[in-house]
This record gives sequence, C-alpha cells and structure tokens, in this order.
Amino acid sequence: LPSLEGLGYVVDYFDRGSYRREDPVEVASLRAREDARVLLIAREMPVSRNTEKGLDPLLPMSEIAALGGAQVEAFLGLTPAGAPIFIALLPDEAVEQRADTSDGFLDRRILVVPGREDLKLVDLRSIAAGGLVTQDQGAMLAAAKALMNWHSRHRFCSNCGSPTEVAVAGWRRDCPVCKAIHFPRTDPVVIMLAVDGDACLLGRQPRFPKGMYSALAGFVEPGETIEAAVRREVREEAGVACRAVQYFASQPWPFPASLMIGCFVEAESRNLEVDRVELEDARWFSREEAVALIEGRHPDGLLAPASMAIAHHLLKRWAYKAVTFDK
Ligand SMILES: [Zn+2]
Repeated sequence: LPSLEGLGYVVDYFDRGSYRREDPVEVASLRAREDARVLLIAREMPVSRNTEKGLDPLLPMSEIAALGGAQVEAFLGLTPAGAPIFIALLPDEAVEQRADTSDGFLDRRILVVPGREDLKLVDLRSIAAGGLVTQDQGAMLAAAKALMNWHSRHRFCSNCGSPTEVAVAGWRRDCPVCKAIHFPRTDPVVIMLAVDGDACLLGRQPRFPKGMYSALAGFVEPGETIEAAVRREVREEAGVACRAVQYFASQPWPFPASLMIGCFVEAESRNLEVDRVELEDARWFSREEAVALIEGRHPDGLLAPASMAIAHHLLKRWAYKAVTFDK
C-alpha cells in the first residue's frame, strides 16, 4: 500500500494511462511489448516470484498462459520508466490451498502454485505490513487486488442477471442483453480521530489484535457528506457529539475495495456511551499516552495500529503536531 510516511508529498506511483484503455489495438500492442509485465491475482492473493532479493510481483506476460490463462485481464498503466503493466485474474484451480488459519483480521491462507517453487502467494496485508515490495509495486498491487476482486464478484448484470463482458481493457463490464454498463466500485470509508484539547478518542473492535486501539471508522452512506459521516460514526459508536471536521489524507484499502478518508474531528465533550456491539472498548488517550502507543512503550502494553495503516498516521500527526480546526 502507498506509504503515508511522505505525507505532504503527492506521489503518483504509476501512470494509469486511462486514455489508452479505449483503444484495443493500442492495448494489444502494449501487451506485446518485451518490457510489459503482469501482476497476477489468484483467489484474491498476489502471486510473486520469490527471488534472493525478495518478492517480485512484476512477472513476464508469458506467465499468464503458463499458469492456465486469465479469467480477466486489465491494463493497469505504465511505470515511470514507461513499461506497460497488466493485471490478470487466474482461475481458482491455478493454485492449491494447503491450510487456512485466518483469524478474521489477517488472511492466513497458505496457497501454492503446484510445481512452481519459484512462485509465492503472500496476502497484501502481510506484503504491506512487512514492506515486502517497493512502494510503487505496493500501489500497483492495491489497484490489482481491488479491481480483480470486483471482476470476480460482478460477473452477472445487476440489472437483468445476464453474464456481463469485460470492456475498456478491464475497467468496465458491459451487459450484452440490457446494455447496462458497470464500473468497478470503490467504497468510501471515513476514519477519524476525534479530539478534545489534549485528548483523543480511540476504540477497539473484538477482532483487533490484543491491546490494539485505533481510530473509529465507518462507511459513508448514500447521500451523505464526508463530514456528516464522520460526525455520525463518532456519535453512533462512542456517543460523542462532534463539530468541525478537518480532512487529513486518504489511502486505498483493497480489503476488498475501500478508500479510507482520514479526518480529524472536534469533540464537544468527553462523555462516552460506547456501542458494545460495534466496539469492545473506546476511551480517551492523553497526548503522552498517544506518543507512548506510537513508540511502543504504553505502560499497559496497549498498541497503536501498524504504520501501514492511515490510523497510525492520524494518531502520529495529532500526537506530535498541533491540529487546528477552521471555525
Ligand atoms: Zn443486463
């Protein structure tokens, strides 16, 4: 996933070349180029080459046919060096599941490509948390996973139920019967740090790793503004009324298709009424405690979210720098 360490810098890791998608002849010529590479997704997990230097998710185009052909192909864009990048969704049968110890928070399926010791399937959360690929490769994998997840779950027209066809180099599905066109979806999620002077509000869901507290979050509903969603979620989950909302930064979160919209919000009081269905706990943390969480030395052993997550950076920004609200 794109790192937020460099906040303040706008980094576009690759050129989506969206104007090229409409022309099948151009897409085919890009695909035929020697420097073209493909990101492979199988059962929602990236397939990478396991090299001495680490994971390499950018594979030769010939791997698509070698692994049984693609169910869906998409043109992702061009690297800064100009190399065309494609995405391919492999059939489920291309990989074998050896074990599954997933715990609802982490994807711990053990998937292998039979007969291909050189290939390794590692879930994207582990790739991001472990910094197992470069930043630009992480950004490409986030797009690849989200797009292929959409394709694998939208094979039929939501209007008439007919099978749909892949169009526009993998960025649309068209219904040949009712002519409806379907675009890949991105689900906006607000994630916010409610603050009141020298305290911030964090909560934990039952599925979180032990001791981890994070910023509250929730989906934006149809017809709702980001600001209203931020205030609603804090009120619903913690019973805290809020005022001004300040946008911070955003992060693609392809689990399966969210865009996390990070905000600060000014709380009206510190009175809590925690929704115990949504949250196991929510509480206020002082600035000193927030710093201790980030630095991994909280006296009660409590933990901040990992640095791959925008919640970590919301907390860090507030803990080390002032956050002001426009009145
Ligand atoms: Zn249809």
